[in-house]
Amino acid sequence: MEDLQAPAPEWKPSLWEWLHYRLMYWVVLPFRAWQVRIRQWGEGRQRCKVCGVADGFNFTVPDSVWEAVVPLKFQCGVVCLHCFDHFAKQREVDYSTSLSGFCFAGDKASLGFEISHAVNIKDRD
Ligand SMILES: [Zn+2]
Repeated sequence: MEDLQAPAPEWKPSLWEWLHYRLMYWVVLPFRAWQVRIRQWGEGRQRCKVCGVADGFNFTVPDSVWEAVVPLKFQCGVVCLHCFDHFAKQREVDYSTSLSGFCFAGDKASLGFEISHAVNIKDRD
């Protein structure tokens, strides 16, 4: 069994290991991140202006609820449901019965959802 209290062994890479690490860190990983950004940009999906996620889920709420929940600087942009819920929790706004038009726009299918029940959560952290 490994001794978790022991100091970590010092890493003494060979020249090849050091070059491989540097190549991965400075060239390969940034290139892959750039590839993902270009591919997602080409898909044309809307991204949440708060967290940057393009989850494909869309929803609508009345303007009064939107303005009560979403901070002013994000009100003109796309906000994902997760971030919207986070803001609603921060501001203690019950939006549980205000959500409509909930749908998913994927690559293979678009789906519309009906909300079967909604509960406002009050006393959960
Ligand atoms: Zn978000």
